[in-house]
Amino acid sequence: MPTLTAKKTSTRPARPAPELIFGDLWEFDPSPETADPKLKTRYDLFINGQFVAPKSGKYFDSINPANERKLAEIAQASAADVDAAYQAAKAAYDNVWGKLPGRERAKYLFRIARLLQDRAREFAVAETLDGGKPIKESRDFDVPMAAAHFFYHAGWADKLDYVAPGRRVAPLGVVGQVIPWNFPLLMLAWKLAPALAMGNTVVLKPAETTSITCLKLAEILQDAGLPPGVVNFVTGAGDVGAAVMNHPIPAKLSFTGSTEVGKIIMRSVAGTDKKMTLELGGKAANIVFDDAPLNQAVEGIVNGIFFNQGHVCCAGSRLLVHEPVAEQVLTKLKNRIKVLRVGDPLDKNTDIGAINSKEQLRKITAMVASGVKEGAEMFQPTCRLPPKGFYFRPTLFSGVSMSHRIAREEIFGPVLSILTFRTVDEAIEKANNTAYGLSAGVWTDKGSRILKMSTELKAGVVWANTYNKFDPASPFGGYKESGFGREGGRQGLLDYCKLI
Ligand code: NAP
Ligand code: MG
Repeated sequence: MPTLTAKKTSTRPARPAPELIFGDLWEFDPSPETADPKLKTRYDLFINGQFVAPKSGKYFDSINPANERKLAEIAQASAADVDAAYQAAKAAYDNVWGKLPGRERAKYLFRIARLLQDRAREFAVAETLDGGKPIKESRDFDVPMAAAHFFYHAGWADKLDYVAPGRRVAPLGVVGQVIPWNFPLLMLAWKLAPALAMGNTVVLKPAETTSITCLKLAEILQDAGLPPGVVNFVTGAGDVGAAVMNHPIPAKLSFTGSTEVGKIIMRSVAGTDKKMTLELGGKAANIVFDDAPLNQAVEGIVNGIFFNQGHVCCAGSRLLVHEPVAEQVLTKLKNRIKVLRVGDPLDKNTDIGAINSKEQLRKITAMVASGVKEGAEMFQPTCRLPPKGFYFRPTLFSGVSMSHRIAREEIFGPVLSILTFRTVDEAIEKANNTAYGLSAGVWTDKGSRILKMSTELKAGVVWANTYNKFDPASPFGGYKESGFGREGGRQGLLDYCKLI
């Protein structure tokens, strides 16, 4: 029997002692995701089931914010293209989709979900290249969650009699939708899936900086055999969004984006009988009591604001911490963010990827400068940033007061403002003292306190001892300047139908 003996000398070169850079962060070898995103060099509009050139003949560039390189050219739609998209959507509603039984519509939605799952890695890489989010986010959250939304709504399409017990439901007709750049594919799924399950047809505009996964999804819609005109995509900047929102055909408008643009849309549709859903900005409070499991809370806080570079409408951008544990939580947070990896979004070890655009980086930098100027104390780790592309270090502000801009205005970047409180009532008062009302988080060991807080916090979602958790069955939406209407769950479906 051969025996195994340890070699006296290894032929492998001695591994250098792991290097610590800047004191705290261990250097890993690069580990980029290598799946082929299968990008085209040029993307046309998707109207009536076909890719068509824009009437203007013009295209704009979509760049990779991680290195500022051009990824593809995207068609620049005009008002005439938007009109063509709406005419196609109306014909598809009148002749095909509006007449199709729910069980038939369900088959298309199941097909779309499965095709997206089949191409999940390709879509994850495309999403990361175009938008800058870490591959672990697009791979583990955005793409699977988008597929889950199609599956969930496929399940509803033949059970619509149970959406509003005792009532019958009917589709509204054609729907106009506009989405932002922070979750391009997921926001698309949130909007398309319930609209289609209910029997509506759609014209949708993605954000100018992140149109690619929307146009890749158009390929899936073709492969799924979706009848022409049921879904139409028009690309371009805000003027195209305005044309989508101001067209006479849609019976319902659904917009996700900033409160500022939401208000413009509200003004422009006032006096019409169009139904509306607005999903707008947020300034969520993450509230940590002294009896909370602090290590778990610190992970939740980090997940709540640094996840996806803080490009999250429901980001826990204000931390309200109970005074007895304030110092302890701040120290833990500093230690935690020192080891967050900022860099190449395609690398599987990256925690914080690229800021979506130069414009957004400028906004974040200006807000952080205002925090310093108004007297809050800033902490940033010294991590190295890539030489090209748009990056921002995770940033903590302590000593923040309610009057500071960083405590009131949405920053939409990896920046956390920390305030303290002494009593439950003070925590509720401070959390609700905002123009927004999208989400909140509560960390405590006491169930009774969770119930009290979730009743008194004026926020559409309240997470308890966790943060940023989503499910297609759970409605999402805001109060006050965070908008109205819900997306997801039975409530989201009700926003896409009329009750008869
Ligand atoms: P934004 O400037 O309002 O843009 C959102 C979308 O609206 C983009 O497609 C944009 O086009 C388009 N648009 C711009 N001007 C328009 C107009 N006058 N009429 C119609 N459409 C117009 O928002 P953003 O800065 O891209 O996105 C970040 C904001 O979205 C944040 O405030 C965030 O909180 C919010 N958000 C909310 C939710 C939610 O569910 N509540 C989810 C995600 C994001 P272009 O950008 O292509 O020019
Ligand atoms: Mg881009």
